[in-house]
Amino acid sequence: MEKLNTLKDEILKCVKCGTCRSVCPTFRVIGRETASARGKLTLIDAYLKGEIGLTEEYQRHIKECTLCGACRDTCPKGVNTVKLYNSARADLIEKLGVPVTASIVFKNLLESGRLMDMALKIATRLQGLIFKDASVESGLLSRFSLPVIGKGRLLPPLARTFFLDLPEVKGLSGPARTKQVKVAFYAGCGINYLMPEVGKASIDILKKAGVDIIVPGSQVCCGMPAFASGDAAIARSMALKNLEVFEAIDCDYIATSCATCGHGLKHMFVDLLSDSPDLKRRVEAFSAKVKDITELLVKVLGFKAEIIEAGVKKTVTYHDPCHLNRAQGIRNEPRELLKGNKNIAFREMSFPCSCCGLGGGLSIANYDLSIEITKRKIEAVRDSGAEIVATACPGCMVQLRDGLHKYGVKARVAHVVELI
Ligand code: SF4
Ligand code: SF4
Repeated sequence: MEKLNTLKDEILKCVKCGTCRSVCPTFRVIGRETASARGKLTLIDAYLKGEIGLTEEYQRHIKECTLCGACRDTCPKGVNTVKLYNSARADLIEKLGVPVTASIVFKNLLESGRLMDMALKIATRLQGLIFKDASVESGLLSRFSLPVIGKGRLLPPLARTFFLDLPEVKGLSGPARTKQVKVAFYAGCGINYLMPEVGKASIDILKKAGVDIIVPGSQVCCGMPAFASGDAAIARSMALKNLEVFEAIDCDYIATSCATCGHGLKHMFVDLLSDSPDLKRRVEAFSAKVKDITELLVKVLGFKAEIIEAGVKKTVTYHDPCHLNRAQGIRNEPRELLKGNKNIAFREMSFPCSCCGLGGGLSIANYDLSIEITKRKIEAVRDSGAEIVATACPGCMVQLRDGLHKYGVKARVAHVVELI
């Protein structure tokens, strides 16, 4: 990862045209220059020139961002804003250290899969004391105000049995058994701890597509949450661990059903693990195998959704995760799969690519801003008239469910693989 002070030329590319303001979800809500890419670049420039220090205000403005990438993609001068923000966040951690809570979570838990598992298994037993069933789809509400979480926020319950512990998944951890296409499945924390049903649907659809599946049990968090918070050292440890786990497997592809994990495995790993020619070669070989499950099904396997007997049609709309649409350029594949199901009447919502509000750690750093960004998305879902919002990222699913509950819109959230 490049140091912030080596990116001065990237800042100089900005001509202050303000185009980025028109697409920025945080600017739309806050309406202040510092919320936009142009404002953040001005602040970083002033910091690098020594005109301002690492004040609380500076830190807040750097974190008031979902890292959605809309500003980068719309910038006529090609300023890589997201690269600058990531380096600015890493610079904060380097100078100020990792916040205590994040340090506990990332360093002592996420880096070691076993500790994370143990801690969350205890939490699974305790969640009924802290949360009450929200009587809406897959959701718990905090009974009282909690640090970071607050009160009245809809959270997904921890799974009773984590995806990687399911007997049918453990049975897939051995070597591939046939000579057909061999696919290793990367679950990620969202699917493993919160949504094993999405993992099971992914395995089922890959089986239907006729591939040999391997699910390595020793995989760990991809490191994207740590990376977004600026803790590049922990993210690097996680990337290296996963690289070693998947290198030990004979597979043609590595599939994931999480847009954020896919972006991390394809791009962040290369960013973090290219510090020696040998490691660079290894990580590039690894990343070349990574496919989002929709990309693998449509582009590689030529999978057509099963022709189901036409029945009662469900109206479905689709939310583009930023980490799939912008970060990986995958827009058509999920839609193609959904439209292939005869029992789906597909309805495009307005601004399907606008950010749901979760990304960049914003839902932890500033939940009120994060859920206010979600409002626009929920209004678009409501106006589409869809009964189901499909998407391809467990993180977006969590945010959409919270937003639907908060703004009183009746729709169900599902992953694409659960609908085909
Ligand atoms: S669109 Fe690009 S060049 Fe224009 S103000 Fe934003 S970052 Fe600068
Ligand atoms: S990455 Fe997204 S939220 Fe952050 S400044 Fe750019 S457009 Fe705004």
